[in-house]
Amino acid sequence: MRRSGVRQLPRFSDVSALFVRVALDHPLPTLFDYRWDSPIPPSVGTLVSVPFGRRHIVGLICEVVAHSEVPAERIRAVDNFCGACPALSAEWIRLVTFAADYYQRGIGEVALPALPQALRDASRWSRLFAPESRYRLLPAGRDALPRELPARASALRRLADALAEVEFLVAADARALHPKAVATLDAWCEQGWVALDIIDAAHVPAPQPTSIEAVRLPTLTDEQADAVDAIRGAQGFAPFLLHGVTGSGKTEVYLRALAAILESRPDAQALVLVPEINLTPQFEAAFRARFAALDATAIVTLHSGLAEGERARHWFAAHTGRARIVLGTRLAVLASLPKLAVIVVDEEHDPAYKQQEGLRYSARDLAIYRAKQHGLPVVLGSATPSLESWWQADQGRYTKLTLSRRAVADAVLPTVRLIDLEEERRRGRASVEGLSGPLLAALRARVERGEQSLVFLNRRGYAPQLACDSCGWVAGCPRCSAYVVLHKQERTLRCHHCGWEARIPRSCPECGNVDIAPMGRGTQRVEETLASAVPGARILRIDADSTRRKGSAQALFSDVHAGEVDILVGTQMIAKGHDFQRVSLVGVLNADTALFSHDFRASERLFAQLMQVSGRAGRSGLPGEVLVQTRYPRHALYHALARHDYVGFANSQIAERRDAHLPPFIYQALLRAEGRTLEAALDFLQQAGEALKTIPAAERVTVYDAVPLTIVKVMHVHRAQLLIESASRGALQATLHAWQPMLRSLKGVLRWNVEVDPLDI
Ligand code: ADP
Ligand code: ZN
Ligand code: ZN
Repeated sequence: MRRSGVRQLPRFSDVSALFVRVALDHPLPTLFDYRWDSPIPPSVGTLVSVPFGRRHIVGLICEVVAHSEVPAERIRAVDNFCGACPALSAEWIRLVTFAADYYQRGIGEVALPALPQALRDASRWSRLFAPESRYRLLPAGRDALPRELPARASALRRLADALAEVEFLVAADARALHPKAVATLDAWCEQGWVALDIIDAAHVPAPQPTSIEAVRLPTLTDEQADAVDAIRGAQGFAPFLLHGVTGSGKTEVYLRALAAILESRPDAQALVLVPEINLTPQFEAAFRARFAALDATAIVTLHSGLAEGERARHWFAAHTGRARIVLGTRLAVLASLPKLAVIVVDEEHDPAYKQQEGLRYSARDLAIYRAKQHGLPVVLGSATPSLESWWQADQGRYTKLTLSRRAVADAVLPTVRLIDLEEERRRGRASVEGLSGPLLAALRARVERGEQSLVFLNRRGYAPQLACDSCGWVAGCPRCSAYVVLHKQERTLRCHHCGWEARIPRSCPECGNVDIAPMGRGTQRVEETLASAVPGARILRIDADSTRRKGSAQALFSDVHAGEVDILVGTQMIAKGHDFQRVSLVGVLNADTALFSHDFRASERLFAQLMQVSGRAGRSGLPGEVLVQTRYPRHALYHALARHDYVGFANSQIAERRDAHLPPFIYQALLRAEGRTLEAALDFLQQAGEALKTIPAAERVTVYDAVPLTIVKVMHVHRAQLLIESASRGALQATLHAWQPMLRSLKGVLRWNVEVDPLDI
């Protein structure tokens, strides 16, 4: 009864020949034909389990056809289908087909990874969604279980304890305790110790009216009001670029616009994307508070930090239309949202919207596509829009909405001061371990006044290098062409590229010198320096190392919000989107390194990061100050920063990009190859480049020489890349499509992949 989710197909063949064409998670960009034997007619968008080689895997029906090219004796039949999951819509299939096409992948390679893991395992279908099983402990079980369980069966004991503690336990949670928990619970049901209630989770309750007036709303600034009116009044596909300085109240604009749209249609759904998991709690809280009239299950999150079962349930809520607001990271852009009415992409410039492996998609760009496909408003918000979006708005393709002032009365943008490190040195002014006198004085003053400070440094660990002064040895990774980072607290050397770890040597392995010393500084070292240089300050470090455990980032950020921290040290994790109320000082260390990078996007990224981190200061009316330590105080980027002049900076960058024929004035793609040797990788790329020149569409495409990546070797694998570009997106796409089969026929490398619109070159 509970297993009604999977329907075994009766195997009477040849009743009426019907075939389905199925997308599978397989690199071949084709659909696979199967025979459909069930009397229940197949439908496009249904998940099926099919035999594939010796395995049985899950696929998605993309077409239903009367004939198949595959000979009748070779074609195999669909095993079964997922009756519990309503079919994915034709629009959704078009979305993944577009993404597959554009990013040069198979449909199944896009569609299946976009589904929750639990759906991709046919053996779990029956237990997943409908009906949901809830196990309740009966009094008989309360007596019997402690007695009957063997003393050492700790997994069973945990299950029994969990049952005793809660009113009921859903199957998914039970399974989280132990993989066999459901079978055990079923056995306990037969013993009469546990009762099983079945709740039909697939049943979609009638949509509730949304009324946002439950809470007191702030009075919108004129600029906010104009932005909200523009978004709510939009007809059809309407892309907006909401350019709002930090603290200008972009969130409030999203909330009001969404409220208006969700109220106007009782089943409308909204998709809100944020660049980082750590920003979801803050947003979720704001949305829950504002939309308190909505049922709690009407707001769901989708990101990789969710437990599998939770993610499946949230995805399902979106897919069935029960969720009205879906708040997620980039992967949420591929969620199934049948009633989608509006999309928000917050901090749209953030590189985290670009997936860096597998399907290398840009969630921002797919959001735009989705809005176009459905004819919806889409709001891209940022204090520092990407140059791509800024250019689109300049061209009039996106509507620009501007919030030029901070929303909170009295809150103004912080003053930015550049501390000239050369000058400090020339004047013999004391600095401690790279922290200049003025910065230390400012930090001490904040601690005394009970205000908070941020110290931003985009490098984690204690020191980026461990070196020997007498022979020049530097600790390197045995598997990569990279130095290893000293992590003092963990007492290890760690490779940030492959994860290799070793104990810190006591002396130089080359010459025996015992005075090996850390060079440069990372967040751990700054934390250590501050502890002695600013006595009495409560210092907290937030970076990828200090937040490794699930949920720990959230706990650390709430300490900051609760005022239990005086100085927060961290990487870009602290720079993004957080609405810190009591931060009045931001210190920026080591930003110079990015000024002279080979990457043409480095300045854009640095400027955005510095604007973002500066934007954490003075948000609630305390006067804010930003101190940037630099050797190049006259650099144009810092000048624009000091004037909060995004527009001037963006326009000068756009002009440079135009002159240099760089994006957004040209479309690029990268072919990357990984080989056992660098020669193998380069040779592959060379052949690929030759092959490309035979493609007619490639006449309008420029092919560059194959080059090794900066970190050429990672995990003993050598990496190189080939850049191709064209002023015509169409010519580039046509070339890439014709190139794929050629690439597949080339041999000699371990792996290769194509990335369209790459961010890192
Ligand atoms: P942004 O995302 O643009 O950096 P936020 O949305 O975080 O800014 O808003 C900054 C602060 O301004 C928040 O504390 C928010 O509650 C407050 N705020 C937003 N709009 C208004 C308003 N109209 N009146 C008063 N305060 C506002
Ligand atoms: Zn040495
Ligand atoms: Zn390594």
